[in-house]
Amino acid sequence: MYVYLNNAATTRVDGRVLYRFSKFFRNLYENPMTSFYSPGAKEVEAEMEKARKEVSDLINASRKEIYFTSGGTESDNWAIKGIALNHWEEKGEIISTPIEHSAVLSSLKTVREWGFSVKFLHVDKFGMVDPDEVRKLITGRTILISVMHANNEIGTIEPIKEIGEIAREKEIIFHTDAVQTAAHIPIDVEEMNVDLLSISAHKFYGPKGVGALYIRKGVKIKPFMDGGHQERGFRAGTHNVPGIIGMGEAAKIGLSEMDKEIKEILELKKYILERFEKIEGIYVNGHPEKKLPGNINISIEGVKAETMLLYLGLNGIIVSAGPSHVLKAIGIPENLYFNTIRISLGKFNTFEEIEYFLDVFEAGIREFRKKK
Ligand code: PLP
Repeated sequence: MYVYLNNAATTRVDGRVLYRFSKFFRNLYENPMTSFYSPGAKEVEAEMEKARKEVSDLINASRKEIYFTSGGTESDNWAIKGIALNHWEEKGEIISTPIEHSAVLSSLKTVREWGFSVKFLHVDKFGMVDPDEVRKLITGRTILISVMHANNEIGTIEPIKEIGEIAREKEIIFHTDAVQTAAHIPIDVEEMNVDLLSISAHKFYGPKGVGALYIRKGVKIKPFMDGGHQERGFRAGTHNVPGIIGMGEAAKIGLSEMDKEIKEILELKKYILERFEKIEGIYVNGHPEKKLPGNINISIEGVKAETMLLYLGLNGIIVSAGPSHVLKAIGIPENLYFNTIRISLGKFNTFEEIEYFLDVFEAGIREFRKKK
């Protein structure tokens, strides 16, 4: 049996996505930016705009606020560097968290080298930031706040709406990396007071190498890529047409099936956690309630993550493991630092797969602990 429990890393493309985007590789392959008078190119353009609307609906934005990119990494880079470039002369400060994805952390490192300063918020043992600390860190020089919507390792969902309210009140641009949450939990850029938001299609059953940056109307940001006039002059480069259309379909499906997906995944998760409770020395990381439905992050006493990963892999089960900057930031005890694994569930997982995983997992724990 092959059981894929690494859905936070990437997901299998939904068959409906594959069906809709495949014809844009062979039949409708024209470039709408250059074939002005071709009916094929017109159809391609119409489909891309339909996808833009589908992506905007997913986060309650308007169509013109969606800019297609090559994925989450590019969107995060653009958000941070694009705002920094806009303040090139006077520089300024950025507020963020120590548990961001490396796409954000590395971009912050770069803008630091450009002369900007970065202040990191504290996170508690669940990986949660405190909006009051955001308020305290804001100064007259703050140009951007970047806090992820949910963490990719421990699944904690951050108080984005509360931070958004503070950012709005202080008139500071607010970016959130929603790569782990888009199409998995509701997102409303209006309610959350977000100005910039990153998403990536391959995390919600869409194709790899395509994503989007939401840019609120009126927000001043410098383009990141120089070249052609695509994306209203803000993101140069020939469009990844099949990818964009695939992302549109994935967004549409994600929005319409979200409630069902959450319910089913939570049932699987509940069953896993009940079985884990019966095993001694298993500690669940991340926030107990404010957490991504599909995320389970555990530390296992007496069993190295590497050993467990290899053993599960040999039995056809794919999970992932730390250690990482996130585990360090939430203060995982040293003896558990290398004993932490992430199980991330997706909509294609079945109860039979979970039953198989748990049987293999429990047998492994017994075996490895006996050997010690
Ligand atoms: N941000 C977060 C929170 C992620 O989990 C990921 C993917 O691992 C990314 C950004 C990067 O996205 P992409 O793989 O589309 O570049």
